[in-house]
Amino acid sequence: MSSRVLSEFLTTNLEDLKSKGLYNVIDPLESPNGPLIKIAGKEFINLSSNNYLGLATDRRLKEAAKAAIEEFGVGAGAVRTINGTLKLHLQLEEKLAAFKHTEAAIAYQSGFNCNMAAISAVMDKEDAILSDELNHASIIDGCRLSRAKIIPFKHLDMSDLQRKAQEAKQSGNYNKLMVITDGVFSMDGDIAKLPDMVEIAEKLDLITYVDDAHGSGVLGNGAGTVKHFGLSDKIDFQIGTLSKALGVVGGYVAGRKELIDWLKVRSRPFLFSTALTPADTAACLTAVDILMNSTELQERLWANGNYLKQGLKALGFNIGSSQTPITPCIIGEEKQTQKFSQRLYEEGVYAKAIVFPTVPKGTGRVRNMPTAAHTREMLDQALSVYAKVGRELGIL
Ligand SMILES: *Cc1c(COP(=O)(O)O)cnc(C)c1O
Repeated sequence: MSSRVLSEFLTTNLEDLKSKGLYNVIDPLESPNGPLIKIAGKEFINLSSNNYLGLATDRRLKEAAKAAIEEFGVGAGAVRTINGTLKLHLQLEEKLAAFKHTEAAIAYQSGFNCNMAAISAVMDKEDAILSDELNHASIIDGCRLSRAKIIPFKHLDMSDLQRKAQEAKQSGNYNKLMVITDGVFSMDGDIAKLPDMVEIAEKLDLITYVDDAHGSGVLGNGAGTVKHFGLSDKIDFQIGTLSKALGVVGGYVAGRKELIDWLKVRSRPFLFSTALTPADTAACLTAVDILMNSTELQERLWANGNYLKQGLKALGFNIGSSQTPITPCIIGEEKQTQKFSQRLYEEGVYAKAIVFPTVPKGTGRVRNMPTAAHTREMLDQALSVYAKVGRELGIL
């Protein structure tokens, strides 16, 4: 028998979402999440994955995963601190540290878990965190979990950060201060102003924390946004995910050895949640190897990103001010944006509408995620569908 209070809560809220058009229906894939996908028996050009480099379906990663299953089985069997640490995990962590140009690294089961783990291992209710107002949900949740005072600053506004950090410092109310930001913001493709941030942090003794989920594998010859700016020894916490450009699943924190030692004894997802599987770990090792030995995939990603951007711009679309391959196509009004995305779908292009409250009202957009695996023919086909739907809906 189910609770009446719960039933009422669920029915009311589900109906509310549906009536506002905010209830997300999930389309299951009948294929790998590559440049072409199959949904409900139909093929689409896929412009919605975070599989930036095409590694999710890479033969070398699949082989590594299969070999690891044969050698170690399918599960790690325990949390890292009991006896779930396989030699594969240590190899991966060493390689990630080399990849990020830091002393050490620690792997977690997801990027989301990194933020659950790392922030509250260091910050507590006597502290304050200065947080970019557009930071990712997992950063926001990680900050909340720490019980530190959260002080949002305006998106990319370093004078606002400076002012608020100075105020917090002078108030004498806090023991430690941290500044936390995405490296690349996934809705607009813009990049954190890390050189200015580091300067402020050095002046005011702020702990620095960069979550580079969308920057790793994309910027800085693959090593990410921090490396892109030449700041590898200036950022205390570098968070990365193994689930986007690296194509598998998992996350990591890279930094000084002492910090990583601390996280290994104090961060709760490391202590209380089972380790990454052997297959995932081995596939990640191979992915990092590929990135460290060649920039071919990144070059293809950027070339495809630039090609799509130029194509959409030439057609007359507003593509915002992305500094990365992430290519928003800003339509504006919410219903029109949904309609646009729906028409793209009917014409064989899979690109999701992103509207308020995920982005500000009136800036609804279709977000395109080109990858290294797309061919010119696929991008040309997508552009011709964009042109057709844009004219049909009176946007062009
Ligand atoms: C996607 C994302 C995450 C979550 O990473 P997962 O590995 O998918 O859990 C965390 N932080 C940021 C900034 C992200 O964009």
